[in-house]
Amino acid sequence: MTFALHGIPVSKGVAIGKALLISRAALEVSHYLIEPGTEEEEAKRLLDAFRKVREELEQLRFGLPKDAPQEMAAFLDVHAMILADPTLAEKPLQLIRTQRLNAAWALTTELNDLLEQFAEIEDPYLKERGNDIRQVAERVLKALYLQQKDSVSHSDFLSPCDVGADTIIVAHDIAPHDMLRFKEFSFTGFVTDLGGKTSHTAIVARSMEIPAVVGVRHASEMIRHGDWLIVDGDQGFVVVAPDAGLLEHYRHLQAQEIQEFQKLQQLKYSKTRTQDGVNIELFANIELPEDATQAVELGAVGVGLFRSEFLFMNRNEAMPGEEQQYKEYRRVLDLMQGLPVNIRTIDVGADKVLGAGSDLSQTGTSPLGLRAIRWSLAEPEIFLTQLRAILRASAYGQARILIPMLAHAKEIDETLTLITKAKQQLHQRGQAFNPNIQVGAMIEVPAAALVLPLFLQRFDFLSIGTNDLIQYTLAIDRTDHAVAHLYDPLHPAILNLLASIIRQAKNAGIPISVCGEMAGDPALTKLMLALGLTDFSMHFSQLLLVKREILRANVGELKSRVEAVLNAFEPSQQSQALEYLFQA
Ligand code: PEP
Ligand code: MG
Repeated sequence: MTFALHGIPVSKGVAIGKALLISRAALEVSHYLIEPGTEEEEAKRLLDAFRKVREELEQLRFGLPKDAPQEMAAFLDVHAMILADPTLAEKPLQLIRTQRLNAAWALTTELNDLLEQFAEIEDPYLKERGNDIRQVAERVLKALYLQQKDSVSHSDFLSPCDVGADTIIVAHDIAPHDMLRFKEFSFTGFVTDLGGKTSHTAIVARSMEIPAVVGVRHASEMIRHGDWLIVDGDQGFVVVAPDAGLLEHYRHLQAQEIQEFQKLQQLKYSKTRTQDGVNIELFANIELPEDATQAVELGAVGVGLFRSEFLFMNRNEAMPGEEQQYKEYRRVLDLMQGLPVNIRTIDVGADKVLGAGSDLSQTGTSPLGLRAIRWSLAEPEIFLTQLRAILRASAYGQARILIPMLAHAKEIDETLTLITKAKQQLHQRGQAFNPNIQVGAMIEVPAAALVLPLFLQRFDFLSIGTNDLIQYTLAIDRTDHAVAHLYDPLHPAILNLLASIIRQAKNAGIPISVCGEMAGDPALTKLMLALGLTDFSMHFSQLLLVKREILRANVGELKSRVEAVLNAFEPSQQSQALEYLFQA
């Protein structure tokens, strides 16, 4: 039966393909298709794990002290009974043999089905047996896990053989570092139950130029493995089991998109200048060094934001050392062929975590916690290592240092002191670096925006992180789909903050850019120009779309209409003023 689900569109375009479902429980286990011909081996692994758990339970049962509570023995007996019942293994064995699911995936699939059935039971005693089954299954999963020599992490749940060109990934939620690993695979679309428009997962999805819709509540429960799907990344729809008419409609849209994409390519070589002759600079945001290749190809005049923390994710060993970091930064500089590169120092915490092998991953998961520069200042040796690596790279290109999430004068002082110290260390070692390397600050905490003169005095350049500035000004967790409808870049408070930051920086003669997602949204380009922005930094996939808007714009006219927008606090008044501005 055809039905549609609605969510938050985060990456444009239309994808048509088959669902590869990564279930919630399965996210915690290894999740892959086994090689053909290894089905019996895998079935044996599962049976061995069952046997192992049975032995464990028997040992526990016989080892129980005489004075142990009776419930303890009863509890172990129930678990032994569940294990002895061949039906628990029956369906997973069938899934291994017929669908080549790995043993842990097969078992969690069956577990999910059983738990659903138990959830519907009214009798409290029987309902509770669902928990027993879960606990038994978890013991078996643990035994399976211990059988495997190589460790299993969240990021290991897919292997390239699962994913094909018509695969649409459907998951409850995906962490940014897992999303990054998907870059290795070629798949066509992406749907999650959770997530917001500017979560880092969404940002990485956009960077893959794959249609994606997030915040599609219950998608992973309602969509089944292998269902045909249409992902409409423009409107935020997911159509499940589409009929022939819908498929034809969307195939037509896809064809139009391809044509439009080809037309856009012609803009690559034109100057980025408005109708009234104002030159605009378009920079790229990158997550990985190799992204720089496309940034240059699409005409970016530099990298406005290199999110260096992505170098530190998905690692099984400790953090990359100075030498390795230096090589990665140099690689970006080399690929950018002399153009400037703002290397942002590690911004972990909140939704971004460091690699599993790192013993230094004690970052906060709250967006208000030990994040970004707060974490770097709490780990001065790691910070100094990164600063030395950037400084060494600066001898070979236009590297600049960009500091995330500053708010306090004390943090600025400590940061600048550590930069001086890193320079001294290199000097003592006799290693080359650019002594006049430019240092910039992200303006993404409202406190920083409100004391901008402090930042204008201490830094060579500023970059506005609208993703966090919106999150912190409006008190909306940018990753939480439950409040995603309140995440509003057009809130008058945001527009007035932006206008004020840009105006002050321009008056002080300090370069100012925007590197948050607002800069890459073509629907907002005219507004950003009206606010006086001339330096935009965005993911390269957005560059030509934004450029097209710039080529059509008249900045003088836009500026004359922006005051009315900034003074409009009533929604109806604001939409009228915005409509008038967008007509310019
Ligand atoms: C921002 O906050 O707008 C920004 C560019 O940084 P990030 O998205 O990495 O937090
Ligand atoms: Mg930020």
